[in-house]
Amino acid sequence: MSSADVVVIGAGVIGCSIAFELAKSGLAPVVVDKLPAAGYGSTSSSSAIIRSFYSTRAGSAMAWESTQIWKNWADYTEHADERGAATYRQTGCLLINSRKDEFVEVIRAMMIETGIPFEDWSTDVLADKLPWLDLHLYGPPRLLEDEGFAEPADTLVDGALYFPEAGYVNDPQLAAHNLQCAAEIHGATFRFNAEVKAIRQRNGRVDGVDLADGTIITAPIVVNVGGPHSSYINKLAGVDKDMTVRHRPLRKEVCYVPGPTGVDLEDQGLFIADMDVGGYCRPETGNRLVVGSTEPACDALTWVDDPDDYNTGFSEQWNVQVMRMAMRIPTLGIPGQASGIVALYDASEDWVPIYDRSDLPGYYMACGTSGNQFKNAPVAGALMTALIKACEAGHDHDRQPLQFDLAHTGQSLDLGNFSRRRSIHQSSFSVLG
Ligand SMILES: Cc1cc2nc3c(=O)[nH]c(=O)nc-3n(C[C@H](O)[C@H](O)[C@H](O)COP(=O)(O)OP(=O)(O)OC[C@H]3O[C@@H](n4cnc5c(N)ncnc54)[C@H](O)[C@@H]3O)c2cc1C
Repeated sequence: MSSADVVVIGAGVIGCSIAFELAKSGLAPVVVDKLPAAGYGSTSSSSAIIRSFYSTRAGSAMAWESTQIWKNWADYTEHADERGAATYRQTGCLLINSRKDEFVEVIRAMMIETGIPFEDWSTDVLADKLPWLDLHLYGPPRLLEDEGFAEPADTLVDGALYFPEAGYVNDPQLAAHNLQCAAEIHGATFRFNAEVKAIRQRNGRVDGVDLADGTIITAPIVVNVGGPHSSYINKLAGVDKDMTVRHRPLRKEVCYVPGPTGVDLEDQGLFIADMDVGGYCRPETGNRLVVGSTEPACDALTWVDDPDDYNTGFSEQWNVQVMRMAMRIPTLGIPGQASGIVALYDASEDWVPIYDRSDLPGYYMACGTSGNQFKNAPVAGALMTALIKACEAGHDHDRQPLQFDLAHTGQSLDLGNFSRRRSIHQSSFSVLG
């Protein structure tokens, strides 16, 4: 039996960030993770794309603030890791305007409101800068067997929004380890191969955790950052009934394919989000592309009951994602052998994360990260620390949502946007948030 100021469940990039910020604030957190090292959970599968457009103002402002931190990641993590710091590669980002949905207009308005830099690229500019793209409209996305699959319309896309300050982080697992090392310097402790089996409660508040090996860690504060396991952990704590926003593990396939013929992706590669073909891609080392999905309506979502037991092999989904991206990038390499990643999102109903307290005093959650919160990890750590401090000092966050100031960009976040009891946001209902 031992005790701690705070137990953080989960040493993914967000759990480690919360530990770092808590430790800097003077608390001594103990982070427990059932895996052997930091960032070995869903963080290790992340495409680690950094971009600042979301369908909510809070999401965009949070990502814009986080981008400033990724630019100086080694400084932010205090050069604490002898393995070196993860690297943010600024490639820029395109959001293709397919004419058909309002998402791009929502984003344009959001960028103007939040002062996030972007450029309007006409179709001609697109064709000039990226001649390897086929700019015909193909949507709405279809299944491979559907009539009309990959048949272009006569019309072209209506240009794109270009975001110069976007890119990806080269090694998401290392980023989590960087945060672990920085947190340890400030007094955090990490226990690996340590699985939480029960949430302890006493006198109407949380009282720590029981581990699978029989260890008890008592603590007045527990933070659930269990990634795809976090809905199960919330059930263990009995706090799920008080939540209006559901979040569940969702199976996803991410494809790695050779880049388009004759294109040096080091030079010309950028992150492309394209609702018209229902996918996204970003450059990867070795002149490859990482290809994912933006959850088009025709694709059934594969919800998973047990995050420790799901099909980790590739399916027809891999083929369809690559074929769709090949409409936009006709010289994309399509290997005979599927390669990439099969992993889980912890997807919320509106694809917006839950950063909140619970109805069990002392128990907090950072979950529902919906495949889009790697980039926001540094700010998530800071806002969860502020939330915990305020609630423990008696602030009623449910009645009067905390406002959180963003140090680099000077904006303010209404943390009510991330409430477990919010009304569902009218988001893209996709990984784009
Ligand atoms: C395929 C994929 C692609 C993605 N791409 C992007 C992207 O491009 N950009 C972006 O911003 N975001 C992306 N994301 C999302 C992002 O990676 C996640 O939001 C983020 O990594 C979540 O971090 P986390 O710390 O909350 O969870 P995790 O990294 O999942 O960590 C949770 C940890 O909790 C531990 N745990 C669970 N249960 C227990 C227990 N009972 N006891 C002890 N430990 C436990 C696990 O072992 C795990 O290490 C992607 C995610 C996936 C899966």
